[in-house]
Amino acid sequence: MADRQNVGLVVVSHSRTLALAAVSLASEMLQGRAVNIAVAAGLDETTFGTDAVRIKESIEEVGGPAGVVVLMDVGSAVLSTELALDLLDDQSARDRVVLSPAPIVEGLIAAAVAAAGGASLREVAAEARGALMAKAAHLTEPTETTTGIPGEISSENTVDAGGVVGVTETSVGQPIAEQVVGVFTVANEHGLHARPAARLVSEVRALDASVQLRNLTTGSGPVPANSLTRVATLEARRDHQIEVRASGPQAKQAVEHLLTLAGRHFDEVVGALELPARAESPSALSSMLPSVASSSQTGPLPASPGIAIGPARKLTAVPIEIEQGVIGDPASEWRRIAESVAEVRRDIEHVRVRTAREMGAAEAGIFDAHLTLLADSEMLADVKGRIAAGVGAPAAWAACLAEVERQWAELSDPYLRERAGDVHAVGQQVLRSLTGATAEQVLAVGVLVTRDLTPAQAAGLDAERVSGVVLAFGSTSSHAAILARARDIPLVVAAGPEVLDIPEGTLIVIDGGSGELHTDPDPEVLGQFRRRAGELAERRAQELALAGQPTVSRDNVSFEVAANLGSVADARSALASGADGAGLVRTEFLFLGRSTAPDQAEQEQEYVAIADAMGGRRVTLRTLDVGGDKPLPYLPSPFEQNPFLGLRGIRLCLDRPALFREQLAAICHSARRSPTSVMFPMISTVGELLQARQILEEAAGPSGLPADLRVGMMVEVPAAALKIQSFLPHLDFVSIGTNDLTQYTLAAERGNPAVASFSDALDPGVLQLIDRVSRAAHGQVDVAVCGEAASDELSIPVLVGLGVRELSVTPAAVPRVKANLRQLDVGRCRAMAQVALTLASPDDVRKLVLAMLSESSA
Ligand code: PEP
Ligand code: MG
Repeated sequence: MADRQNVGLVVVSHSRTLALAAVSLASEMLQGRAVNIAVAAGLDETTFGTDAVRIKESIEEVGGPAGVVVLMDVGSAVLSTELALDLLDDQSARDRVVLSPAPIVEGLIAAAVAAAGGASLREVAAEARGALMAKAAHLTEPTETTTGIPGEISSENTVDAGGVVGVTETSVGQPIAEQVVGVFTVANEHGLHARPAARLVSEVRALDASVQLRNLTTGSGPVPANSLTRVATLEARRDHQIEVRASGPQAKQAVEHLLTLAGRHFDEVVGALELPARAESPSALSSMLPSVASSSQTGPLPASPGIAIGPARKLTAVPIEIEQGVIGDPASEWRRIAESVAEVRRDIEHVRVRTAREMGAAEAGIFDAHLTLLADSEMLADVKGRIAAGVGAPAAWAACLAEVERQWAELSDPYLRERAGDVHAVGQQVLRSLTGATAEQVLAVGVLVTRDLTPAQAAGLDAERVSGVVLAFGSTSSHAAILARARDIPLVVAAGPEVLDIPEGTLIVIDGGSGELHTDPDPEVLGQFRRRAGELAERRAQELALAGQPTVSRDNVSFEVAANLGSVADARSALASGADGAGLVRTEFLFLGRSTAPDQAEQEQEYVAIADAMGGRRVTLRTLDVGGDKPLPYLPSPFEQNPFLGLRGIRLCLDRPALFREQLAAICHSARRSPTSVMFPMISTVGELLQARQILEEAAGPSGLPADLRVGMMVEVPAAALKIQSFLPHLDFVSIGTNDLTQYTLAAERGNPAVASFSDALDPGVLQLIDRVSRAAHGQVDVAVCGEAASDELSIPVLVGLGVRELSVTPAAVPRVKANLRQLDVGRCRAMAQVALTLASPDDVRKLVLAMLSESSA
């Protein structure tokens, strides 16, 4: 245990991995002596960012009478740390905190060695500050001047768009900093809009360089590249030339990195958020796809297909009242801002994680731009300035927000102009937090009519209540529209401000596929819409009505369609959707987002509640699948370079047998009451399966395994698929996790948009593995598929053709998946799948499936 009398150290970094590695390195130098070091790094294990509240907690954690030295990496790390000081409960503790300008690796090593030796705060801070001296002395040639220090260098390096660095001596002997200059051409379809701009800004913030951007095509700028709001004012459109001018220790890396990134379109997933094209789809599918609206078309515009008929509903808005009277002192007003910004950041993070889980990484990327806005140093500095001038926190925030919104709204590019809505949305969230105003809500069933929706509002719409949405403003490419489509909620946008005058309760009808909107329609129009809605609803109702029936293909092959669950609420909707069981309960959701693991009693309660909600249908409880993208804060694991290839899933459970045994005991408890299966994730060797089974038997206790407990494993590692026959004697069933199987087969990390195009479960390489598993298991154990491919209309015929007879999908998709299966002829699917296995690409497979479906519907 470190001596609390010694100086404590806090490492603030955008990357948790980086901070932990720096701490490990420093610990090596301490030769067993202890130092209080806390890490406040990353928004979670894998998400880059800094959080003022976490930094404050870290300072409090290691702070004692001797004080604290804080080491920070770049950009907003410094800003967040300054905010953290404002948040300290004990303001006298603030005087015992030194923010060190030292680089984190060298600085931490020097500071840790000094602190371990009992040095004072001043001595530790001085050690950290001088940490670069030895290296600088060693590397500096007698004739060379030190780089990066203003006044000593006078050269300008240039980098062309191809990334080649040249050096141009300019104004030799003049006191200017070395600058590196490069130019790139914007290749993104919509220019440097919110997402690519947010990517650019966050990359710049992660480097130790001061970077300015200029739009050479329009002459606008220069603007600091670490401010999203300022970068937006460049109005950088496709084909514009942007000059990058950097100075500081990492100037060259900054310019080269931005040029490379620009060449990769800032990793924007081309097409991922675009509307799907209609042309190639067979008629059965095309009715489900939205029509593409041109941006020059005037509203109302179709944005998410489907018919909605119902009374107009408004968001019940609580107007935000800005306090004008007496305000607190500037320090406490600024502290309010810091707390609200930190709170909204956390909320957005949660929505982002949920969106990523439910809708995919590309949709979740929408929220990255929002997070970047909340760390905008220019905006925060402006708010701080207003507060220092005597304005209260809400009024300062509102005034700054209005100014930024005005700048964005004045941009001439319509696509960028629409992003003013994002600024407004995030800003309002902070204002609500500052003033305590409650969020707007839809209170009764009907068609929501409102100005615009934030992505968070669109993601959080209660689909049971909101049958459709009309937006006065907004666009077909807005984030709200993308999310409405993903959630199957009919939407028309750009309907004009007059719709806001429609009285609450007035009957309105919309067709989100054509953009039609009628208020108080005459009987003829209403009749037409009712017919159209009737046809659509009939199809869905038929699907739902039949959802409880056995699912049998045209040629009499039976299927089970189960549901993937994360909670008791999911179980209720699964039952209502006609799920035949729960094919995958992601038990880790009970373990995530809390500071301690649920004990056995709590787990038993949850599993029994899920089983009860499923009304006696079989429930497959997957054991804890954490690690990788789902770290548990209370299960600290060693630093891993590649967490997805590390201690995750079953590997982590076998490493923590006590935790694992407790979960298995809770599962056995559930299995003694109702039909239950247990399933092990991420198995790659037979040894792991045998070890897991052994712990299961121990957990079952003296009465032995519950009679009806079925034991299975997920097949999501290619090696497990390839040697599947060795696992089968120890199993009752296997379930193929196509999400991970695809990730590992294609070597494409599932959350990484830059490699999203590789992650395709219809890749013939993945299909060959599924085929192998299905053949080997045939007649021995059941084979299910529980990855996302199980609900994809074009993947289902292939899976069926490869012999899969059980699919497990999100609860809402159950009726549709059952309907899809009933349309299939398994014999034809089988023949088609054999061809699919021989094809070269997933696109070829899709064409083959589409051809088969078109023929079948002809
Ligand atoms: C899978 O990998 O396909 C799967 C269903 O598990 P998860 O998505 O929870 O990793
Ligand atoms: Mg998985």
